[in-house]
This record gives sequence, structure tokens and C-alpha cells, in this order.
Amino acid sequence: MKNIVIFGAPGAGKGTQSDFIVEHYGLTHVSTGDLLRKEIADQTELGKRIKSIMDEGRLVSDDIVVEMMDKAIAADTKGMLFDGFPRTVAQAETLDRLLAKHGRELTCMVQLEVPREELIRRLLERAKIQGRADDNEQTIANRLDEYNNKTLPVANYYAGQGKQKLIDGLGSIEDIAARVRAAIG
Ligand code: AMP
Repeated sequence: MKNIVIFGAPGAGKGTQSDFIVEHYGLTHVSTGDLLRKEIADQTELGKRIKSIMDEGRLVSDDIVVEMMDKAIAADTKGMLFDGFPRTVAQAETLDRLLAKHGRELTCMVQLEVPREELIRRLLERAKIQGRADDNEQTIANRLDEYNNKTLPVANYYAGQGKQKLIDGLGSIEDIAARVRAAIG
């Protein structure tokens, strides 16, 4: 059973590549961003608490996402693709613990590498098409800051475990998908 983390900056193409990976390996796709946006759309208590944080492009607190992941892992039987999680080293350590609790282990982390100018170009493009609340210039800058400060150290965490697979995230969607498959094996 495979359990994989798809990793990269906002705009690196995690969502797009996730669709290919879950299809190819028969995994359950879990995106913390999607789960959090649903809480906001449903106007739950949690949704009300996190809306302004997300609108500003800041990370919500670790315990909120960890609780969501704990439930998602407990409910899964197929193996999972984690998209948008972990985003801090504390979350990465917790993920190892949660997987171990269920007799699982992370297979690998797939990191999509895309230069900053291209990330900004893609995010502004997506803003026009999808109208996501956090795809505007100020919020994009905040999200990239959060990524560089808090999330990028997660890459070293997995490199230290020998689980990091670096993928060139530039090119056609199909070419990138082929690189990702070759890396996962
Ligand atoms: P995403 O759709 O993955 O780009 O996530 C959108 C927003 O959801 C982020 O900018 C954060 O505010 C929040 N978020 C998603 N995943 C996490 C996470 N693992 N930890 C903290 N905040 C998160």
C-alpha cells in the first residue's frame, strides 16, 4: 500500500498532478486546502474561525489540520495521497506518527520544483479562471512567504529520511506526470 506526499509551493501543480497519481495508483486523495475550503463554504464553527487566516494566505494552526488528517487516515483502506499536508516540520513528524499508529509508513515525498516567477504567473492565471479568494497579488506573496519560511524545511525533513523525489515541475502536464510516475515507480 502506497502513502505518498505531493509537495511544492502554491502554484507548483500539486492539484493537477494529484489527479494523475490517485488515478494511476488507486489512492485516496486528501487535500487539506479542499477540506478547509469546505468548512468555510459550509459556514461551520471551524470555517468561521479560519476564514480570515486563509484569506490572508497564512497557515492555519497545526492542530486543526492534524485532527482532519487523523480522521482521514483512520477512514482509509486504499493508501493515500497527501496534498497540501504536511506544511510544517511539526506536521511532518505528526504524519509519521499517525501512519505508524495505523501500521503504515510513508512511501515517498514527490516535490515539484517551479521557479518563483512561474508560480506567480500560474497563480494569477488561476485567479482569473477559478476566482479563488486567496489568489490575489498580496495573498500570493504571503502564501509564498509562508511556504519559504515554514514549509520548505519539510523538504529537508524528508531528504534526511531518504524519501524526497525531486521533480522538474516545468513543461507539459503529461511530461510532468510521466516524471512523477517514474520517480514513484
Ligand atoms: P492549498 O489549497 O493547499 O493551497 O491551501 C489553501 C490554504 O489552506 C493555505 O494557504 C492555508 O491557509 C490553508 N492550509 C492548507 N493546508 C494547510 C496545512 N497543512 N497547514 C496549515 N494550513 C493549511
